[in-house]
Amino acid sequence: MGVNELMGEIAGVGRDARRGGYSRHVYDYADFELRDWFIDQALDSGLDVNTDRNGNIWAWWGNPGSDAVVTGSHLDSVPGGGAYDGPLGVASALAAVEILQGKGFAPAKPLALLVFAEEEGGRFGVPCLGSRLLTGAIDADRARNLRDTDGVTLAEAAVKAGHDPKRFGADPESLAQIGCFVELHVEQGRGLIELDSPVATGSSIIAHGRYRFSFSGQGNHAGATRLADRHDPMLPAATVVAAARRAAAAMNDARATVGRLVPTPGGTNVIASTVDLWLDARVSGEGRTAVLVEDITEAARAAAEAEGCELTVTEESYSDDVVFDETLRSRMDKVLGGVPALPTGAGHDAGILAAHVPSGMLYVRNPTGISHAPEEYAEPADIDSGAQSLARVLEELAG
Ligand SMILES: [Zn+2]
Repeated sequence: MGVNELMGEIAGVGRDARRGGYSRHVYDYADFELRDWFIDQALDSGLDVNTDRNGNIWAWWGNPGSDAVVTGSHLDSVPGGGAYDGPLGVASALAAVEILQGKGFAPAKPLALLVFAEEEGGRFGVPCLGSRLLTGAIDADRARNLRDTDGVTLAEAAVKAGHDPKRFGADPESLAQIGCFVELHVEQGRGLIELDSPVATGSSIIAHGRYRFSFSGQGNHAGATRLADRHDPMLPAATVVAAARRAAAAMNDARATVGRLVPTPGGTNVIASTVDLWLDARVSGEGRTAVLVEDITEAARAAAEAEGCELTVTEESYSDDVVFDETLRSRMDKVLGGVPALPTGAGHDAGILAAHVPSGMLYVRNPTGISHAPEEYAEPADIDSGAQSLARVLEELAG
């Protein structure tokens, strides 16, 4: 089945009628359906499927072994996300295997497809959870105790999904099998529009972190409470939103975003007792994300103090700058006949793996330049180019 047909098969899974786009969260119904779909497709192609101790799915062409050429991505989405972020890499991996099988290619090295259990952190907050667990980049106990917005822990959700969370954690045996990793992904910016190319390789990912700001004040009546008597945590929270933009604008090529803010109890006529908000901060260069976050935190502390509120700031995740393996990238570039190389501000499992094995990325043009939103898109012809490019790269690496 071609890559566009594969994408068509899952186009109805996990649609979000309220937000638009898709909400496909780890260990939830849409995720189960997508995982089953991937396993069925892999088995149909004659691959051997197994799920590792962290819930990542592997599909092997030939016997599992070391120095394997591995490709894949993720199936989960952000809340209200697009159709392509993640699934395009998985569908392209399946299609690439079929292209290679169709031309009678026999891999000299083990070749595997890999679907990471949770990349967006859309349910449990920490991005790239599957690859962080696999590589030991997150402590297993901390991961097990992550909670979703309903208070369900990752461990509880995993049990419901038929996994044993006691086995979560660094998996050096699985990691040791990966000789190199290539992830195909829809582009999440405008690079390929401007360069007028359907595909590119990835050169780097800028450092990024997620920080939870928890403000507590005094819940009270919106009408009966005089302004002078208030301790309203929404005021310092608003300061963070504005400070994030100001601080990021003051640094070269920095990004800072507040995309999620939760007041409790959350009533129109109620002064909130607490406000939690999440800051997403990204800036290239060692220690510069910390400088950016410190600048915003200082503004938050001053605003909290002025309103008589308390503030705690928690780092939920942080990843350093990633520079993808230059040897791998130039081998990819050579078989693709010379394509642009793009840096990105978006995080990926390939970025987590890059600290351990040669890793690379292939981007497919997104004509809207929009991602993590329903407008994310890729033209069918570009999607085909992507799968063909991935097939050529796998042929080169595993041949
Ligand atoms: Zn993604």
